[in-house]
Amino acid sequence: MAERKVRVRFAPSPTGALHIGGVRTALYNYLFAKQHGGDLIFRIEDTDSNRFVPGAEEYIIESFKWLGIKFDEGVSFGGNYGPYRQSERRDIYKKYVQQLLDAGKAYIAFDTPEELNAKREEIKNFQYDASTRMMMRNSLAMPKDEVDKLIADGTQYVVRFKIEPGEEVHVDDLIRGDVKIMSDILDDKVLYKSADELPTYHLANIVDDHLMEVTHVIRGEEWLPSAPLHVLLYRAFGWADTMPRFAHLPLLLKPDGKGKLSKRDGDRLGFPVFPLEWHDPKTGEVSSGYRESGYLPEAVINFLALLGWNPGNDQEIMTMDEMVKLFDISKCSKAGAKFDYVKGTWFNHEYILHKTNEEIAALWAPVVAEHGVNESIERITEVVGMMKDRVNFVKELWDLCSFFFIAPETYDEKTIKKRWKEDSAETLTKLMAVLEPLDDFSIAHQEEVVMKWIEDNGYKTGDVMNAWRLTLVGEGKGPHMFDISAFLGKEETLNRMRKAIEVLK
Ligand code: GLU
Repeated sequence: MAERKVRVRFAPSPTGALHIGGVRTALYNYLFAKQHGGDLIFRIEDTDSNRFVPGAEEYIIESFKWLGIKFDEGVSFGGNYGPYRQSERRDIYKKYVQQLLDAGKAYIAFDTPEELNAKREEIKNFQYDASTRMMMRNSLAMPKDEVDKLIADGTQYVVRFKIEPGEEVHVDDLIRGDVKIMSDILDDKVLYKSADELPTYHLANIVDDHLMEVTHVIRGEEWLPSAPLHVLLYRAFGWADTMPRFAHLPLLLKPDGKGKLSKRDGDRLGFPVFPLEWHDPKTGEVSSGYRESGYLPEAVINFLALLGWNPGNDQEIMTMDEMVKLFDISKCSKAGAKFDYVKGTWFNHEYILHKTNEEIAALWAPVVAEHGVNESIERITEVVGMMKDRVNFVKELWDLCSFFFIAPETYDEKTIKKRWKEDSAETLTKLMAVLEPLDDFSIAHQEEVVMKWIEDNGYKTGDVMNAWRLTLVGEGKGPHMFDISAFLGKEETLNRMRKAIEVLK
């Protein structure tokens, strides 16, 4: 068989916000597609109309746009295999359901939910399968004319997959190896419901993977139990030769490793589990997102990439292009990955450092403006350069840096107690006189002049600097003193000193 072009898909159901685990699944699909020169498809699996949530599809598309995961085809992206929304493919599925019925590989069943419940009460561990199907109301157990009449009368029915017992089913999984089960444990899954004229997830999923020429199915571990059923469906359709390879990704676990990560863990520990803020249209509940919480998309991507995979050395910081080169689906771990959200903030810090000062300034400038400060982007960039190594998030910059733009109104009590000595007012008044005549107010020149003055007069450097800092900053924080005074400029520096001496003396 000729090598097929790699084609993978991310196929969410639009039932709400995209969970961060779904983002990782999409990312791994993206990395895999890119490294094989293949295509990534975006398919919407919306055959369960009861679970449809308005806005979810748009939310998912916007999330990937923000994260920089690009699709080659699919809903909103176009392509030659559409439509890509399953609710628009009804007629296609009908044809394939009929094909299974005609081949005797599926059958029609009329059992109502009440009848099924009654059976479950009657028979312990009831399963609709080869051992029970002849006791039920279906086209295998009932005479043909009765079946035809019920259908003609408009009775609702489902189509069930007729699973033959005694077959060994192999799922050849790229991560988990050969997973083997006996067909006996599977039930005769519902593939189609006449009531809404739509197939169930299982049928639509594999028909679409086949028609869209999907070569690899990379998806969450929770779908592993469905894989044997899918293998049997491929066989029933006669598509075993072009069946995709499977890869079931490890679960994302709670930060302490005990159980599956849930939204409640995020609420409890204070980290987002969604890429973007999500407004639930039904409950009105608002859930935080990585974007709104101040994460850089590159940091989120890098963080997620390493939850379940690593390049085999201790390299942690990787660009998307590097990950495309290094990613290896067969090296993904089988064991669940702890969601170490603290590590997520570390990645954000690293990406703030990696980005240029100009890039971070562009993100921070709106915050500065919001505080009523009118500064040039060059000045903002300068501050970013001095301070960005101290923050995990851009939004933390304001509290740390507002003094660069706004003179202190008050002076921190604790710092006064510790740093403002009896002679501070006098020393700083003298320092003002030293600074006053300087034409060159650069960091280097100030440092040279001031340090010589300190030495000549036998002052303690710490005493002078700490008191001086208090006058310019209002408390004990900030970068190197000459960085601050040079940034403020001579006039502002002297003004702040004058005012503080007035207030504190
Ligand atoms: N629609 C499924 C989901 O929501 C997709 C599973 C698969 O990738 O086959 O996760």
